Amino acid sequence: MSTLTKKDSNSSIITDSDYILEVNDLKKHFPVKAGILQRNVGSVKAVDGLSFKVKKGETIGIVGESGCGKSTAGRTLIRLYEPTAGDIFFKGRNISKMSESELRRTVRKDIQMVFQDPYASLNPRKTLKSILLEPMKTHNMYKGKEREDKLDELLDRVGFNPLFINRYPHEFSGGQRQRIGIARALTLNPDLIIADEAVSALDVSIQAQIINLMKDLQEEMGLTYVFISHDLSVVRHISDRVGVMYLGKIMEFAPKKDIYEEPLHPYTQALLSAVPTPRKKGAAPRERIILKGDLPSPANPPTGCVFHTRCPAATAMCSEKVPEFREVKKDHFVACHLY
Ligand code: SF4
Repeated sequence: MSTLTKKDSNSSIITDSDYILEVNDLKKHFPVKAGILQRNVGSVKAVDGLSFKVKKGETIGIVGESGCGKSTAGRTLIRLYEPTAGDIFFKGRNISKMSESELRRTVRKDIQMVFQDPYASLNPRKTLKSILLEPMKTHNMYKGKEREDKLDELLDRVGFNPLFINRYPHEFSGGQRQRIGIARALTLNPDLIIADEAVSALDVSIQAQIINLMKDLQEEMGLTYVFISHDLSVVRHISDRVGVMYLGKIMEFAPKKDIYEEPLHPYTQALLSAVPTPRKKGAAPRERIILKGDLPSPANPPTGCVFHTRCPAATAMCSEKVPEFREVKKDHFVACHLY
């Protein structure tokens, strides 16, 4: 996707201020080691060339089957994993090669993550108060009364009774714990939140409450989200634009309406055929497309189009030539030889 408006990949300044995040050919490969000497014998291409841009205040959904690399992508975006290659521009600065100290000094507090399992990510020995105070202390933000005010504000934002402040994580329900995870992410007034399967562990009714809370917070605070999930229905509720990932690559990227009503990529079509979703007015009912075989290993991805081993529309060319990821209609990008 040739979408960047920057001087060059080493430049720290880009000119397109509409975009808060620009990802350019991002890769994360994990080495595979073997033998007594633990020699490198290959690599797992968990993320293999992602490019997309995120506008300030919008929500990008990243969807795909388990093992497609979407969680690795989220962790690489926030530099929890070191990128193998590619660039990540956040508010115009290339953060992909920044040192940890520079990251901490400049952008760490502006990008926060909300994880799938709030219980695992909350220290069971800390009260709600100390969980929320910790990021303020680490980043030396707010003092004295300001901190108390900030705590009150956070509790109010996520709908918590201030009397809960001295309770421990095990005293809360799953939905409440995810509210704590969100409050903690908001402590430092971030611009961007990467939510990785943030509602997947919750019951459907609680999922809806958390999604609505996230939408309200986005409106009130001007937040930008990258929302990662395997669940197409959840992604549809929250996203403005959606990227569909398969074996470390984005297969299709488009406004939500295009993805759900007129998917172009055979993989997106197959995924959507398995879930009840709205169709374009007058469109014929979707036929269920059963994909053959399992997801191939990212340690040994298929040649050509990585989807060709399961694609119902594959031709001889598909196993040889990598399809270009290109804009086939306005804002609608697809990696497929059919377009
Ligand atoms: Fe299917 Fe070929 Fe398109 Fe890949 S490039 S999605 S194999 S038709």
